[in-house]
Amino acid sequence: MNGTVAEYLYILSIVFFVISLKWMSEVKTSRYGNWIAASGMAVAIGATLLAYQIQRVDLLVGAVVVGTVIGMPIALRVPMTAIPQRTAVSHAFGSLAVALVGTAEYYQRLPNIDLPTLTVLSAEMILGYLTFMGSCIAFAKLQGLIPGRPFSFGRRNFLSLTTLGIAVALAVYLIANPTHSFIVPVMALFAVLFGFLLVMGIGGADMPTVIAILNSYAGMSAAALGFVLDNQILIVAGALDGSSGFILAMIMSKAMNRSFTNVLFGGVGAPVAAVTPEPSAAGRTVQAFTVEDVASALENAKTVVFVPGYGMAVAQAQHVVKEVADMLQVSGTDVKYAIHPVAGRMPGHMNVLLAEAQVPYDELWEMDKINPLFPETDVAIVVGANDVTNPAARTRPDSPLYGMPILNVDRARTVVFIKRSMAPGFAGVENELFYLPNTMMVFGDAKKVLTDLVAAMKK
Ligand code: NAP
Repeated sequence: MNGTVAEYLYILSIVFFVISLKWMSEVKTSRYGNWIAASGMAVAIGATLLAYQIQRVDLLVGAVVVGTVIGMPIALRVPMTAIPQRTAVSHAFGSLAVALVGTAEYYQRLPNIDLPTLTVLSAEMILGYLTFMGSCIAFAKLQGLIPGRPFSFGRRNFLSLTTLGIAVALAVYLIANPTHSFIVPVMALFAVLFGFLLVMGIGGADMPTVIAILNSYAGMSAAALGFVLDNQILIVAGALDGSSGFILAMIMSKAMNRSFTNVLFGGVGAPVAAVTPEPSAAGRTVQAFTVEDVASALENAKTVVFVPGYGMAVAQAQHVVKEVADMLQVSGTDVKYAIHPVAGRMPGHMNVLLAEAQVPYDELWEMDKINPLFPETDVAIVVGANDVTNPAARTRPDSPLYGMPILNVDRARTVVFIKRSMAPGFAGVENELFYLPNTMMVFGDAKKVLTDLVAAMKK
């Protein structure tokens, strides 16, 4: 009886998960998507308790309390800019849990473990352990605990693929000799080593994509465990997690004009000795402007496009951006926001920040739609963005950014760059836009500069 009720509850939670994915794909409904996903998870946990008649409820309650006490403050305090590394931590814990449950299942089922179960368990353990280590390294890179640049040496890709090959070979040996349990820790060690080498070799700028890929691995290993445990909800939730992580990684790679192989094995972000200095930069100076100069430029502007980037998130300048936009709109200026798919440090980063500042959704323009409008734009105000505007992506085949679609702000009549210094963006590449005659550089923290601009505009 309990089992039947649990089956229905599982179906309900699956429906909730599917609806949540649909709602989360639209900014307007994303909050509801989050809530319904959490409700789906609560229903799934309740159904599992019901179905399996858990005996040691005390242990379970203890685990929930410890998890809540640690997780709640982290979730409440973590700044928006640190969401990618927080996600990496979740994946590390999730995949470690899945790998450990898989390992425990193996030892528990010995010596009567059938071939299909052992095959799935081996795949699940390899995926789980490699995702665990890969996520830990992704966290350490994004948090700045270890250098973000790719760790590369001569035959790194060969070594990491050999490590994976050994882990798979050990799995095959284990499947052929199920009782040789000493293989399991060795196989786990090689999977961990592969996760380490794989992610150490990837540059910090590619970490969010890597996290999406690891997300997909974690989902696949959870789905595999679902088959072993004969648990439908784990299969479906794992498959949804795995496929959504994979799709997200594809969308991000496409936005950067990169292939998966290039993200995983390209070592992008390493110091590139062969790159020649920017010809535009040599012997040229940059012109710094004041907020009063920008206010005058805006006075006559009929069309203004804001181009937000990572610096806007760091400065938390989204509210004052909206304030400037409101003032411009009151005086009849047409205002739009140009959203690059990989601006900031996570997918949808700019959408979330601008939504928080109550910017209407219809003022947000995606890259493909806004790019043709730049030649008719009087002023493009770049707020803490850099790489996503860098023309080297179009013009310099030796640049690490080459091929990435960018926002063509250089085609606007005037470009205002608000940033603190001449420092490059995440990819570490100089931006020749800073030296163009129609560029106004305004140095300072984005929030401070824009607050001063509001004051100057009021005058
Ligand atoms: P970016 O190229 O990293 O540049 C951000 C700029 O903001 C920096 O040049 C910095 O210059 C400035 N800045 C930092 N703090 C600031 C502050 N308080 N006030 C004003 N300016 C400040 O950022 P982006 O143009 O948004 O490009 C995103 C990069 O991340 C791309 O390379 C993209 O490929 C990568 N990435 C993003 C994602 C994603 O999902 N969004 C995923 C993977 C990779 P100063 O230090 O001089 O101020």
